[in-house]
This record gives sequence, C-alpha cells and structure tokens, in this order.
Amino acid sequence: MTLAEGIRKHGFRKWYERELLQSHAHLVLCFFCVIGLFASVEAATRFRDWHEQLIDGTAFVLCSAVGLWALRRYLYLLAHAEAAAHQADCPACKTYGRLELLQSDASGENVRVQCRKCGHVWQIGE
Ligand SMILES: [Zn+2]
Repeated sequence: MTLAEGIRKHGFRKWYERELLQSHAHLVLCFFCVIGLFASVEAATRFRDWHEQLIDGTAFVLCSAVGLWALRRYLYLLAHAEAAAHQADCPACKTYGRLELLQSDASGENVRVQCRKCGHVWQIGE
C-alpha cells in the first residue's frame, strides 16, 4: 500500500502502524526460515538415501530463498515507514502524524499534506 493510499484509507498513524506490523511479520517469517534452514542442514548430515537428501536440499534452497526475500521485505517496509514517519512532524507546530492528504503524485509516495491542528501545508516524500 502506498503512502497516499494509506493516509487516504486509514490516516497516517494507522498506516504507519500497519506498515510496522507488516514488516515485523516478515521478520517472523525470516526467523522461521532460519529454523527451517538449520533443520534441513541437520537432516542432510544424516545420510539415508538420495531421495531424502534431495528433499533436504530442496528445503535448504526454499528456506534460503524465502528467508532472504522476507528479510529484504522487512528492511524495505521498515525503512519506508520510518522515512515517512520522520517527515510527519508539522514544521509549524510540531504536531506528530495529525495530517490530511491534499494531493499525491502518480507513484503515491510523494504527498502534499496539511496539518489538522494548525493548517500548515508541507511535502512528505522520498
Ligand atoms: Zn501544525
């Protein structure tokens, strides 16, 4: 969900909370993949037959790929949410996150917002 969609649909604070929850869910998935990785290595050290070795190897590759994807997604979502949060303070009255979306660009990541407390207008974007 882009920043503009999030602010429009949920408001800034809820969007930020949802981005953090989503990013940490990816971190939990990454943790489970690390456990799966260790389990597949442990299973591969006990040689039984080639069929089971193939299954262990497949589990290793799958856990590695999904774990790296989840770690990358976690870092992206966290950095994205933090970058927007650092710009969510009203420059005029220093109120945090009480803003209204005025307009956004085509990507939905550069938005023009207005403070709900004092009415100051500023830009949040990358
Ligand atoms: Zn303000």
